[in-house]
Amino acid sequence: MPLHLPKGTNNLLVPGEHEVYVAPELILHYIADHGYSPPEEFCSALLSCPEIPSMPYFWRLVEAGGDAWQRVIRTERLRQLDMAELGDQWRNE
Ligand SMILES: [Zn+2]
Repeated sequence: MPLHLPKGTNNLLVPGEHEVYVAPELILHYIADHGYSPPEEFCSALLSCPEIPSMPYFWRLVEAGGDAWQRVIRTERLRQLDMAELGDQWRNE
């Protein structure tokens, strides 16, 4: 049994080239059980997305979404994210 079952209260953030896609975490249920087919650009962003959550993922999120997304990430408490560590690594790039 999976440790984490989607409850529909979180969002899935997927970095694109110059944008961030936001989908309800239940999108997987909509796809699997209701035949929902997300837009092509969302699918290709998802397929090239680094593992969630990982530092490369958070770097890509900030890179794609800009500084404003750092606030969103913090607000949504995007789990296991150490913003100080991200900030340090980001500044040292
Ligand atoms: Zn349903």
